[in-house]
Amino acid sequence: MSQLATPALSVREVCYLVETFCWKTHPWCSTGKKLQPTGPPELATKDLKVVDLLVAGSSKWDKERVLCILPNEAPDILCIRPSKTGAEDAYCWIPTKNGDYTTKSGYYIAMNQMKEPEAVTTNAPRCDWMTDIWQLPISPKISVFLWKVVRGALLLGDHLETRGLIATTKCPFCDMRETADHLFLACQFSTSVWAIAPIQNADMLSKTPELTIALKASKTLKNLPPTEFISGSMFPWIVWMIWQRRNQRIFENRIFDAGDTITKAISDTRKWQSAQLESKPLTMDHSGLARIFTDPTDQILHQGNAIEEWVSSPLVAEALAIREALFQAQAHGYTNIELKSDAQTIIRDIHNLSCYLSSSIFLHFPHLDNIAADSLAKRALLHV
Ligand SMILES: [Zn+2]
Repeated sequence: MSQLATPALSVREVCYLVETFCWKTHPWCSTGKKLQPTGPPELATKDLKVVDLLVAGSSKWDKERVLCILPNEAPDILCIRPSKTGAEDAYCWIPTKNGDYTTKSGYYIAMNQMKEPEAVTTNAPRCDWMTDIWQLPISPKISVFLWKVVRGALLLGDHLETRGLIATTKCPFCDMRETADHLFLACQFSTSVWAIAPIQNADMLSKTPELTIALKASKTLKNLPPTEFISGSMFPWIVWMIWQRRNQRIFENRIFDAGDTITKAISDTRKWQSAQLESKPLTMDHSGLARIFTDPTDQILHQGNAIEEWVSSPLVAEALAIREALFQAQAHGYTNIELKSDAQTIIRDIHNLSCYLSSSIFLHFPHLDNIAADSLAKRALLHV
């Protein structure tokens, strides 16, 4: 299991890395994945230490230096928040969001590792589940669908045949044996769909022998007008729509042509992506942090906001807001506080900071009940 874990960096970890070198140490560039600098390094930076990437005498990254020396890893490095208080290092379990190991996640990883040799023996191209499927900007139902296709879990004709159900093993479009590679790529219906698909070299994709290869290749192909502004490839959406058309033909006896299929795929993609934009936070890189201190009668004693750059997720933003609130409490001499936040995961750093308080209570406070602080945080972003 340790091979899947990456140490969460704290200032002490950074201090430890003073003894080591950027290019020769274990993966350290991210707390979310195994990431280390890709070399070879230039002569001038070959002996670079992690501490050389910090502003001298502080626990802040030297942004320009990080971007200059390690541009590929910079977004991940800048999202690491070295502790300001010397918090103890801790290992985190990458597969879970809060970094804590769970039996369920361990079982899932172990099962996947056991299944990997199968892919080698069947000569199938290895699918990187994360980058080829789960991280694509597609709806969860299509991610699950693609995962089923690649795992061979979709009930296509060839699978029914192996179960002795030979009455419905033929492709509904052309009567050939229905396999995933046939249905989604080689079938005459799919070929006609790919011929007009708004994807660069889409016809070449349809000539790919295996769907997994096409799925990998599609990630580097551009969408063509009118889908050039769609995020990610149209390929998974069109594969999903071919599956829908296949089912409509079998179960509803409805027939659609290639034009209908592409139009519906584009329409569904746009609807889903615009819905994501509406529910997205204001910005990915910048986050507004705000705190409001009130007395027991809800009179405001102090309030303030700030902007943080390189915030990787709303959860990190919430944690940074809590940390900043505790610093502010210390600065204003508030020694007896009740802290309310929407964040359910408490950052270990905060516990160190809160030791000086004579009393502190951490309560889960739903986002919708914290509108005042929320709007204050959004105001911090107005001038970004
Ligand atoms: Zn067919």
